[in-house]
Amino acid sequence: MEHVKCLIIGSGPAGFTAAVYAARADLKPVMYEGMEPGGQLMITTEVENFPGFPVGVQGPELMAQFKEQALRFKTDVRTGMATKVDLHSIPKKVWIDDEKEITADTVIIATGASAKWLGLESEMRLRNLGGGVSACAVCDGFFYRGKEVAIVGAGDTACEEAHYLSKLCAKVYMIVRRDQFRASKAMKHRVENTANIEILYSSETQEVLGDHVVEGALIKNNVTGELREIKIDGFFVAIGHQPNTKIFDGFIDLDEQGYIITKPDSSKTNIDGVFACGDAQDKIYRQAITAAGTGCMAALDAERYLAALGH
Ligand code: NDP
Repeated sequence: MEHVKCLIIGSGPAGFTAAVYAARADLKPVMYEGMEPGGQLMITTEVENFPGFPVGVQGPELMAQFKEQALRFKTDVRTGMATKVDLHSIPKKVWIDDEKEITADTVIIATGASAKWLGLESEMRLRNLGGGVSACAVCDGFFYRGKEVAIVGAGDTACEEAHYLSKLCAKVYMIVRRDQFRASKAMKHRVENTANIEILYSSETQEVLGDHVVEGALIKNNVTGELREIKIDGFFVAIGHQPNTKIFDGFIDLDEQGYIITKPDSSKTNIDGVFACGDAQDKIYRQAITAAGTGCMAALDAERYLAALGH
């Protein structure tokens, strides 16, 4: 059985930043990349808001650079997914791909979150083509300046993103599946009072239209059955995120949505030696730069934890 000082689970901005700091502190980190190596930025096109890249950078290229930097300090980056844990044992146990068992003095959880999608074939196809389907208005809204877009969802995120898009785009259709919002009243009023947001209540997307890029969407009113085609250039989905924390349930304190609860001003979880960073524990900011910041915190917390134990 292999034993490591610092095991990092996940390979997005949080995981790789933790790796750089942990490696430079001589914790000899081993990282398992998980199901989506590189995380959510791998399905993003241009990233224009990551500091240090004045002319922007493609999401996959940014992640390649994160990885290169972690490798430079000899992080042991491996393919594989953590499928089971026993975080009550000392040292902590983690199983990779249901087979390999590793013990670790510290575990840094950086498993991220996955955007939820509607699951339509046309939506997935155009998303994979980079053809104008996105789950992040703050990341991609800029590309639709002066154009017409649609956003699906009725929660606080959808309202916030619709409002953000309304400042850039000529028009924003908000597709709401019920006859009411889930969002707070303040957020709802904000979108209702924005002139270029048109709210389509009781509406569901039947199909995103376009062969290679988004050209429109077919919307069905689920009360009247009426079909309506809207012309748009961008299709945004804001129906929530799912933190990838299922395997930690029962060990780590999670909130009602499954996000890891960290202690104030730290990356510490309820279990000594287990730290969490990035979108697995952040449902508010969810930016690459904030994920990277908390990854740094997790590595520093792990280093201090080990130092206090005399390692
Ligand atoms: P929520 O789970 O709150 O909302 C998801 C929305 O998506 C709901 O309106 C839901 O509809 C809709 N939805 C879900 N599935 C589908 C589907 N298949 N088709 C169409 N619509 C669908 O997620 P959010 O990301 O908005 O928010 C997550 C948490 O973060 C919340 O607690 C929120 O309050 C918080 N937050 C707070 C902010 C702030 O305070 N500034 C900003 C952003 C988020 P339905 O209502 O019909 O179920």
